[in-house]
Amino acid sequence: MVKNKKISEQKSLTPQDYISVEQNWGAHNYRPIDVVLTRGKGVWLWDVEGKKYLDMMSAYSAVSHGHCNPKLLAVLKAQAGRLSMCSRAYYTDVLPRFLEKLCVFTGMDRALPMNTGAEAVETAIKAVRRWGYFTKKIPENQAEIIVMSHNFHGRTSGIISFSSDPSYKLGFGPFLPGFCQIPFGDVAALEAAITPNTCVVLTEPIQGESGIIVPPKGWLAQVSKICKKNKVLLIVDEVQSGFGRTGKMFACDHEDVHPDGMILGKALGGGFFPISALVGKEHLMHVFTPGSHGSTFGGNPLGAAIALRALEIIEEEKFAEHSAELGAYFLGELKKIKSPHIRDIRGIGLWVGIDLYPSPTSARLVCEKLKEFGVLSKETHETVVRLAPPLVITKKELDWGIRQIGKVFESL
Ligand SMILES: *Cc1c(COP(=O)(O)O)cnc(C)c1O
Repeated sequence: MVKNKKISEQKSLTPQDYISVEQNWGAHNYRPIDVVLTRGKGVWLWDVEGKKYLDMMSAYSAVSHGHCNPKLLAVLKAQAGRLSMCSRAYYTDVLPRFLEKLCVFTGMDRALPMNTGAEAVETAIKAVRRWGYFTKKIPENQAEIIVMSHNFHGRTSGIISFSSDPSYKLGFGPFLPGFCQIPFGDVAALEAAITPNTCVVLTEPIQGESGIIVPPKGWLAQVSKICKKNKVLLIVDEVQSGFGRTGKMFACDHEDVHPDGMILGKALGGGFFPISALVGKEHLMHVFTPGSHGSTFGGNPLGAAIALRALEIIEEEKFAEHSAELGAYFLGELKKIKSPHIRDIRGIGLWVGIDLYPSPTSARLVCEKLKEFGVLSKETHETVVRLAPPLVITKKELDWGIRQIGKVFESL
Protein backbone atom coordinates (compact mmCIF):
# COMPACT_ATOMS: atom_id res chain seq x y z
CA MET A 1 0.00 0.00 0.00
CA VAL A 2 1.51 3.28 -1.07
CA LYS A 3 0.58 6.47 0.65
CA ASN A 4 -0.66 8.32 -2.45
CA LYS A 5 -3.26 5.65 -3.18
CA LYS A 6 -6.44 6.69 -1.36
CA ILE A 7 -8.66 4.16 0.42
CA SER A 8 -11.71 5.72 -1.25
CA GLU A 9 -10.34 4.68 -4.67
CA GLN A 10 -10.10 1.00 -3.74
CA LYS A 11 -12.98 -1.29 -4.69
CA SER A 12 -12.60 -3.94 -2.03
CA LEU A 13 -10.20 -4.02 0.83
CA THR A 14 -8.68 -6.99 2.56
CA PRO A 15 -8.05 -6.92 6.32
CA GLN A 16 -4.38 -6.33 5.55
CA ASP A 17 -5.32 -3.30 3.41
CA TYR A 18 -7.20 -1.70 6.31
CA ILE A 19 -4.29 -2.35 8.61
CA SER A 20 -1.79 -0.88 6.14
CA VAL A 21 -3.86 2.25 5.55
CA GLU A 22 -4.27 2.81 9.27
CA GLN A 23 -0.55 2.26 9.74
CA ASN A 24 0.17 4.74 6.93
CA TRP A 25 -2.13 7.54 8.01
CA GLY A 26 -2.45 7.14 11.74
CA ALA A 27 0.13 8.09 14.34
CA HIS A 28 1.57 4.94 15.84
CA ASN A 29 0.45 5.48 19.42
CA TYR A 30 -1.22 2.05 19.59
CA ARG A 31 -0.22 -1.46 18.62
CA PRO A 32 -3.55 -3.19 17.93
CA ILE A 33 -4.16 -6.91 17.63
CA ASP A 34 -4.42 -7.78 13.91
CA VAL A 35 -8.19 -7.98 13.59
CA VAL A 36 -10.40 -5.57 11.64
CA LEU A 37 -13.81 -5.28 13.27
CA THR A 38 -16.95 -4.10 11.58
CA ARG A 39 -19.90 -5.07 13.78
CA GLY A 40 -20.84 -5.82 17.36
CA LYS A 41 -23.85 -7.22 19.22
CA GLY A 42 -23.94 -8.02 22.92
CA VAL A 43 -20.73 -9.81 23.84
CA TRP A 44 -19.89 -10.63 20.22
CA LEU A 45 -17.81 -8.86 17.58
CA TRP A 46 -17.43 -9.63 13.87
CA ASP A 47 -14.47 -8.87 11.60
CA VAL A 48 -14.68 -7.75 7.96
CA GLU A 49 -14.45 -11.37 6.79
CA GLY A 50 -17.41 -12.40 8.93
CA LYS A 51 -15.47 -14.23 11.65
CA LYS A 52 -17.10 -13.97 15.08
CA TYR A 53 -15.26 -13.23 18.34
CA LEU A 54 -16.15 -13.15 22.00
CA ASP A 55 -15.21 -9.74 23.41
CA MET A 56 -13.19 -10.27 26.60
CA MET A 57 -11.88 -6.70 26.66
CA SER A 58 -15.05 -4.56 26.52
CA ALA A 59 -13.04 -1.51 25.42
CA TYR A 60 -11.29 -1.37 28.80
CA SER A 61 -14.69 -1.76 30.54
CA ALA A 62 -16.42 0.94 28.50
CA VAL A 63 -18.74 -1.66 26.94
CA SER A 64 -20.15 -3.26 30.11
CA HIS A 65 -23.67 -2.94 28.62
CA GLY A 66 -22.68 -5.04 25.59
CA HIS A 67 -22.19 -3.80 22.04
CA CYS A 68 -24.99 -1.76 20.48
CA ASN A 69 -27.24 -2.32 23.50
CA PRO A 70 -30.73 -1.93 21.98
CA LYS A 71 -32.15 -0.03 24.98
CA LEU A 72 -29.36 2.52 24.75
CA LEU A 73 -29.53 2.65 20.97
CA ALA A 74 -33.20 3.64 21.23
CA VAL A 75 -32.33 6.49 23.61
CA LEU A 76 -29.46 7.61 21.40
CA LYS A 77 -31.69 7.75 18.32
CA ALA A 78 -34.51 9.58 20.09
CA GLN A 79 -32.26 12.15 21.76
CA ALA A 80 -30.13 12.68 18.62
CA GLY A 81 -33.29 13.59 16.75
CA ARG A 82 -34.41 16.03 19.44
CA LEU A 83 -31.38 17.93 20.77
CA SER A 84 -27.81 16.69 20.81
CA MET A 85 -25.54 19.61 21.62
CA CYS A 86 -26.01 23.11 22.99
CA SER A 87 -23.19 23.66 25.56
CA ARG A 88 -23.51 24.62 29.19
CA ALA A 89 -24.25 28.21 28.16
CA TYR A 90 -27.88 27.10 28.61
CA TYR A 91 -29.92 24.69 30.70
CA THR A 92 -31.50 21.65 29.05
CA ASP A 93 -34.32 19.29 30.03
CA VAL A 94 -31.94 16.31 30.13
CA LEU A 95 -28.84 17.23 32.14
CA PRO A 96 -30.69 17.88 35.44
CA ARG A 97 -32.23 14.39 35.34
CA PHE A 98 -28.82 12.84 34.69
CA LEU A 99 -27.09 14.83 37.45
CA GLU A 100 -29.76 13.94 40.01
CA LYS A 101 -29.65 10.28 39.03
CA LEU A 102 -25.86 10.15 39.17
CA CYS A 103 -25.69 11.77 42.61
CA VAL A 104 -28.41 9.54 44.10
CA PHE A 105 -26.76 6.52 42.48
CA THR A 106 -23.35 7.31 43.98
CA GLY A 107 -24.50 8.82 47.28
CA MET A 108 -22.80 12.11 46.42
CA ASP A 109 -24.00 15.74 46.59
CA ARG A 110 -22.90 17.17 43.25
CA ALA A 111 -21.55 16.05 39.90
CA LEU A 112 -19.43 17.79 37.29
CA PRO A 113 -19.84 16.15 33.88
CA MET A 114 -16.89 15.87 31.48
CA ASN A 115 -16.19 13.57 28.53
CA THR A 116 -13.17 11.33 28.99
CA GLY A 117 -11.81 9.74 32.13
CA ALA A 118 -8.64 11.81 31.95
CA GLU A 119 -10.69 15.03 31.92
CA ALA A 120 -12.55 13.93 35.03
CA VAL A 121 -9.20 13.18 36.72
CA GLU A 122 -7.95 16.66 35.76
CA THR A 123 -11.20 18.06 37.17
CA ALA A 124 -10.53 16.24 40.44
CA ILE A 125 -6.98 17.62 40.63
CA LYS A 126 -8.29 21.16 40.21
CA ALA A 127 -11.04 20.57 42.78
CA VAL A 128 -8.76 19.17 45.50
CA ARG A 129 -6.13 21.86 45.01
CA ARG A 130 -8.75 24.57 45.42
CA TRP A 131 -10.09 22.79 48.49
CA GLY A 132 -6.53 22.73 49.80
CA TYR A 133 -6.09 26.48 49.42
CA PHE A 134 -9.62 27.71 50.16
CA THR A 135 -10.62 25.33 52.96
CA LYS A 136 -7.50 23.73 54.44
CA LYS A 137 -5.56 27.01 54.01
CA ILE A 138 -2.48 25.41 52.49
CA PRO A 139 -0.02 28.18 51.44
CA GLU A 140 -0.40 29.17 47.78
CA ASN A 141 1.09 26.73 45.25
CA GLN A 142 2.22 24.33 47.99
CA ALA A 143 -0.58 21.73 47.77
CA GLU A 144 0.61 18.14 47.59
CA ILE A 145 -1.27 15.20 46.09
CA ILE A 146 -0.41 11.66 47.18
CA VAL A 147 -0.71 9.05 44.42
CA MET A 148 0.21 5.37 44.12
CA SER A 149 3.07 3.75 42.26
CA HIS A 150 1.97 1.99 39.06
CA ASN A 151 -1.20 4.08 38.95
CA PHE A 152 -3.14 4.69 35.77
CA HIS A 153 -5.30 7.79 35.57
CA GLY A 154 -5.06 8.75 31.89
CA ARG A 155 -2.79 10.38 29.37
CA THR A 156 -2.88 14.17 29.66
CA SER A 157 0.40 15.94 30.31
CA GLY A 158 -0.81 16.73 33.84
CA ILE A 159 -1.70 13.12 34.64
CA ILE A 160 1.43 11.52 33.19
CA SER A 161 3.42 13.82 35.48
CA PHE A 162 2.61 11.45 38.32
CA SER A 163 2.77 8.16 36.40
CA SER A 164 5.48 5.63 37.23
CA ASP A 165 5.52 4.11 33.74
CA PRO A 166 8.56 5.42 31.80
CA SER A 167 6.90 4.74 28.41
CA TYR A 168 4.05 7.12 29.33
CA LYS A 169 6.54 9.88 30.17
CA LEU A 170 9.57 9.59 27.89
CA GLY A 171 10.19 12.90 26.15
CA PHE A 172 7.05 14.61 27.48
CA GLY A 173 8.60 16.72 30.26
CA PRO A 174 8.74 19.12 32.00
CA PHE A 175 6.17 17.62 34.34
CA LEU A 176 3.62 19.11 36.70
CA PRO A 177 4.97 19.36 40.26
CA GLY A 178 3.05 18.71 43.48
CA PHE A 179 2.73 14.92 43.47
CA CYS A 180 4.14 12.39 45.88
CA GLN A 181 4.16 8.71 44.96
CA ILE A 182 3.91 5.90 47.49
CA PRO A 183 3.65 2.11 47.08
CA PHE A 184 0.09 0.86 46.41
CA GLY A 185 -1.34 -1.02 49.38
CA ASP A 186 1.19 0.31 51.93
CA VAL A 187 -0.40 1.95 54.98
CA ALA A 188 2.88 2.89 56.71
CA ALA A 189 4.16 4.63 53.57
CA LEU A 190 0.99 6.70 53.45
CA GLU A 191 1.29 7.79 57.06
CA ALA A 192 4.90 8.80 56.46
CA ALA A 193 4.06 10.75 53.28
CA ILE A 194 1.35 13.03 54.67
CA THR A 195 2.47 16.60 55.41
CA PRO A 196 0.50 19.68 56.48
CA ASN A 197 0.33 20.58 52.75
CA THR A 198 -1.25 17.29 51.65
CA CYS A 199 -4.69 17.96 50.17
CA VAL A 200 -5.67 14.53 48.87
CA VAL A 201 -4.93 10.87 48.40
CA LEU A 202 -5.83 9.94 44.82
CA THR A 203 -6.00 6.23 44.07
CA GLU A 204 -7.62 3.49 42.08
CA PRO A 205 -9.30 1.07 44.53
CA ILE A 206 -7.98 -1.79 42.40
CA GLN A 207 -5.30 -1.08 39.81
CA GLY A 208 -6.58 -1.99 36.35
CA GLU A 209 -3.99 -1.03 33.75
CA SER A 210 -1.12 -2.15 35.93
CA GLY A 211 -2.50 -5.71 35.80
CA ILE A 212 -5.65 -6.13 37.96
CA ILE A 213 -3.80 -5.55 41.22
CA VAL A 214 -6.07 -6.07 44.26
CA PRO A 215 -4.58 -4.40 47.37
CA PRO A 216 -4.45 -6.16 50.77
CA LYS A 217 -7.84 -6.51 52.47
CA GLY A 218 -8.61 -3.53 54.66
CA TRP A 219 -6.13 -1.21 52.96
CA LEU A 220 -8.63 1.24 51.44
CA ALA A 221 -10.59 1.42 54.71
CA GLN A 222 -7.32 2.24 56.49
CA VAL A 223 -6.51 4.91 53.90
CA SER A 224 -9.92 6.46 54.44
CA LYS A 225 -9.38 6.53 58.22
CA ILE A 226 -5.89 8.05 57.92
CA CYS A 227 -7.19 10.71 55.53
CA LYS A 228 -9.97 11.73 57.91
CA LYS A 229 -7.58 11.89 60.86
CA ASN A 230 -5.19 14.17 58.95
CA LYS A 231 -7.74 16.42 57.23
CA VAL A 232 -6.81 15.00 53.85
CA LEU A 233 -9.39 14.24 51.17
CA LEU A 234 -9.79 10.82 49.55
CA ILE A 235 -10.59 10.67 45.84
CA VAL A 236 -11.10 7.28 44.28
CA ASP A 237 -10.70 6.72 40.54
CA GLU A 238 -13.49 4.27 39.65
CA VAL A 239 -13.29 4.93 35.91
CA GLN A 240 -12.55 1.27 35.16
CA SER A 241 -13.52 -0.46 38.43
CA GLY A 242 -16.93 1.18 38.84
CA PHE A 243 -20.48 0.20 37.85
CA GLY A 244 -20.36 -3.47 38.76
CA ARG A 245 -17.09 -4.52 37.15
CA THR A 246 -15.69 -5.88 40.44
CA GLY A 247 -18.88 -7.53 41.71
CA LYS A 248 -19.98 -4.52 43.78
CA MET A 249 -21.46 -1.34 42.34
CA PHE A 250 -18.19 0.43 43.12
CA ALA A 251 -14.90 -1.15 44.14
CA CYS A 252 -14.98 1.14 47.25
CA ASP A 253 -18.04 -0.80 48.41
CA HIS A 254 -15.90 -3.88 49.08
CA GLU A 255 -14.46 -1.91 52.02
CA ASP A 256 -17.49 0.24 52.86
CA VAL A 257 -15.46 3.32 52.03
CA HIS A 258 -17.27 6.57 51.22
CA PRO A 259 -14.67 8.85 49.65
CA ASP A 260 -14.97 12.64 49.33
CA GLY A 261 -15.09 12.25 45.57
CA MET A 262 -15.23 9.61 42.86
CA ILE A 263 -14.00 9.81 39.29
CA LEU A 264 -16.28 8.01 36.84
CA GLY A 265 -16.14 7.27 33.12
CA LYS A 266 -15.96 4.36 30.69
CA ALA A 267 -19.15 2.29 31.34
CA LEU A 268 -21.05 5.47 32.26
CA GLY A 269 -21.36 6.11 28.51
CA GLY A 270 -22.96 2.70 27.88
CA GLY A 271 -20.45 1.93 25.13
CA PHE A 272 -21.85 4.67 22.90
CA PHE A 273 -20.39 7.90 24.05
CA PRO A 274 -17.47 9.31 26.04
CA ILE A 275 -19.05 10.49 29.30
CA SER A 276 -17.18 11.05 32.52
CA ALA A 277 -17.79 12.89 35.75
CA LEU A 278 -16.34 13.96 39.04
CA VAL A 279 -18.93 13.31 41.73
CA GLY A 280 -18.32 14.53 45.26
CA LYS A 281 -19.49 15.79 48.59
CA GLU A 282 -20.58 19.37 49.04
CA HIS A 283 -17.41 20.39 50.94
CA LEU A 284 -15.35 19.51 47.87
CA MET A 285 -17.67 20.44 45.02
CA HIS A 286 -18.53 23.91 46.28
CA VAL A 287 -15.05 25.10 45.25
CA PHE A 288 -16.27 25.42 41.67
CA THR A 289 -17.61 28.83 40.73
CA PRO A 290 -18.79 30.08 37.33
CA GLY A 291 -15.80 30.37 35.01
CA SER A 292 -13.47 28.20 37.14
CA HIS A 293 -13.78 25.08 35.00
CA GLY A 294 -15.65 23.81 31.97
CA SER A 295 -15.90 21.73 28.83
CA THR A 296 -17.68 22.48 25.56
CA PHE A 297 -19.07 18.97 25.28
CA GLY A 298 -19.35 18.06 28.97
CA GLY A 299 -22.95 17.42 30.01
CA ASN A 300 -24.34 17.60 26.47
CA PRO A 301 -27.95 16.37 26.12
CA LEU A 302 -27.08 13.39 23.91
CA GLY A 303 -24.47 12.10 26.34
CA ALA A 304 -26.59 12.90 29.39
CA ALA A 305 -29.58 10.99 27.99
CA ILE A 306 -27.45 7.94 27.24
CA ALA A 307 -25.70 8.01 30.63
CA LEU A 308 -29.01 8.38 32.47
CA ARG A 309 -30.35 5.27 30.75
CA ALA A 310 -27.02 3.48 31.19
CA LEU A 311 -27.31 3.98 34.97
CA GLU A 312 -30.88 2.67 34.99
CA ILE A 313 -29.83 -0.45 33.09
CA ILE A 314 -26.95 -1.10 35.51
CA GLU A 315 -29.54 -1.21 38.31
CA GLU A 316 -32.38 -2.94 36.47
CA GLU A 317 -30.17 -5.72 35.17
CA LYS A 318 -28.23 -6.08 38.44
CA PHE A 319 -24.79 -5.75 36.84
CA ALA A 320 -22.97 -5.92 40.18
CA GLU A 321 -24.66 -9.11 41.42
CA HIS A 322 -24.25 -10.77 38.03
CA SER A 323 -20.58 -9.80 37.92
CA ALA A 324 -19.97 -11.17 41.44
CA GLU A 325 -21.67 -14.47 40.67
CA LEU A 326 -20.23 -15.14 37.21
CA GLY A 327 -16.88 -13.60 38.17
CA ALA A 328 -16.36 -16.10 41.00
CA TYR A 329 -17.24 -18.94 38.63
CA PHE A 330 -14.95 -17.52 35.91
CA LEU A 331 -11.96 -17.24 38.25
CA GLY A 332 -12.56 -20.76 39.61
CA GLU A 333 -12.71 -22.29 36.12
CA LEU A 334 -9.62 -20.40 34.91
CA LYS A 335 -7.67 -21.60 37.93
CA LYS A 336 -8.29 -25.19 36.76
CA ILE A 337 -6.17 -24.51 33.66
CA LYS A 338 -2.83 -26.20 34.19
CA SER A 339 -0.06 -24.50 32.26
CA PRO A 340 3.65 -24.00 32.96
CA HIS A 341 3.28 -20.49 31.47
CA ILE A 342 0.89 -19.22 34.15
CA ARG A 343 2.44 -17.49 37.17
CA ASP A 344 -0.75 -16.22 38.77
CA ILE A 345 -4.44 -15.84 38.04
CA ARG A 346 -6.14 -13.09 40.00
CA GLY A 347 -9.31 -11.12 39.74
CA ILE A 348 -12.42 -9.72 41.27
CA GLY A 349 -15.84 -9.83 39.66
CA LEU A 350 -15.68 -10.08 35.86
CA TRP A 351 -12.21 -8.58 35.86
CA VAL A 352 -9.41 -11.11 35.66
CA GLY A 353 -5.70 -10.99 34.92
CA ILE A 354 -3.72 -14.04 33.87
CA ASP A 355 -0.13 -13.27 34.83
CA LEU A 356 2.44 -15.18 32.79
CA TYR A 357 6.10 -15.92 33.35
CA PRO A 358 8.12 -13.41 31.27
CA SER A 359 9.43 -16.18 29.00
CA PRO A 360 9.21 -18.18 26.80
CA THR A 361 5.81 -16.75 25.88
CA SER A 362 4.40 -13.23 26.25
CA ALA A 363 0.97 -11.85 27.03
CA ARG A 364 0.94 -10.40 23.52
CA LEU A 365 1.49 -13.82 21.98
CA VAL A 366 -1.28 -15.33 24.11
CA CYS A 367 -3.65 -12.54 22.99
CA GLU A 368 -2.79 -13.26 19.36
CA LYS A 369 -3.50 -16.98 19.94
CA LEU A 370 -6.76 -16.13 21.71
CA LYS A 371 -7.81 -14.18 18.63
CA GLU A 372 -7.20 -17.26 16.46
CA PHE A 373 -9.47 -19.20 18.84
CA GLY A 374 -12.19 -16.52 18.64
CA VAL A 375 -11.57 -14.60 21.86
CA LEU A 376 -10.49 -10.96 21.90
CA SER A 377 -8.36 -9.73 24.77
CA LYS A 378 -5.46 -7.35 25.14
CA GLU A 379 -2.24 -7.62 27.07
CA THR A 380 -1.44 -5.08 29.73
CA HIS A 381 2.30 -4.67 30.17
CA GLU A 382 4.38 -7.64 29.00
CA THR A 383 2.99 -10.39 31.20
CA VAL A 384 -0.70 -9.89 31.96
CA VAL A 385 -3.61 -11.05 29.81
CA ARG A 386 -6.66 -9.03 30.84
CA LEU A 387 -10.09 -10.70 30.68
CA ALA A 388 -13.09 -8.40 31.18
CA PRO A 389 -16.18 -9.37 29.18
CA PRO A 390 -19.24 -7.13 28.93
CA LEU A 391 -21.24 -7.51 32.16
CA VAL A 392 -24.27 -8.73 30.19
CA ILE A 393 -22.46 -11.99 29.36
CA THR A 394 -24.43 -15.18 30.05
CA LYS A 395 -23.01 -18.30 31.70
CA LYS A 396 -23.27 -20.15 28.40
CA GLU A 397 -21.28 -17.47 26.56
CA LEU A 398 -18.72 -17.39 29.35
CA ASP A 399 -18.38 -21.20 29.26
CA TRP A 400 -17.60 -21.00 25.55
CA GLY A 401 -14.89 -18.44 26.27
CA ILE A 402 -13.41 -20.52 29.08
CA ARG A 403 -13.17 -23.55 26.77
CA GLN A 404 -11.38 -21.49 24.12
CA ILE A 405 -8.95 -20.03 26.66
CA GLY A 406 -8.19 -23.60 27.85
CA LYS A 407 -7.49 -24.66 24.26
CA VAL A 408 -5.07 -21.74 23.80
CA PHE A 409 -3.00 -22.74 26.81
CA GLU A 410 -3.02 -26.38 25.64
CA SER A 411 -1.69 -25.24 22.26
CA LEU A 412 1.24 -23.22 23.66
C1 LIG B 1 -9.15 4.41 31.40
C2 LIG B 1 -8.87 5.05 32.70
C3 LIG B 1 -8.74 6.45 32.81
C4 LIG B 1 -8.71 7.37 31.62
O1 LIG B 1 -9.89 7.37 30.89
P1 LIG B 1 -9.90 7.93 29.38
O2 LIG B 1 -11.36 7.95 29.03
O3 LIG B 1 -9.10 6.98 28.56
O4 LIG B 1 -9.28 9.28 29.43
C5 LIG B 1 -8.57 6.99 34.07
N1 LIG B 1 -8.51 6.20 35.16
C6 LIG B 1 -8.62 4.86 35.09
C7 LIG B 1 -8.56 4.05 36.34
C8 LIG B 1 -8.78 4.24 33.86
O5 LIG B 1 -8.84 2.91 33.77
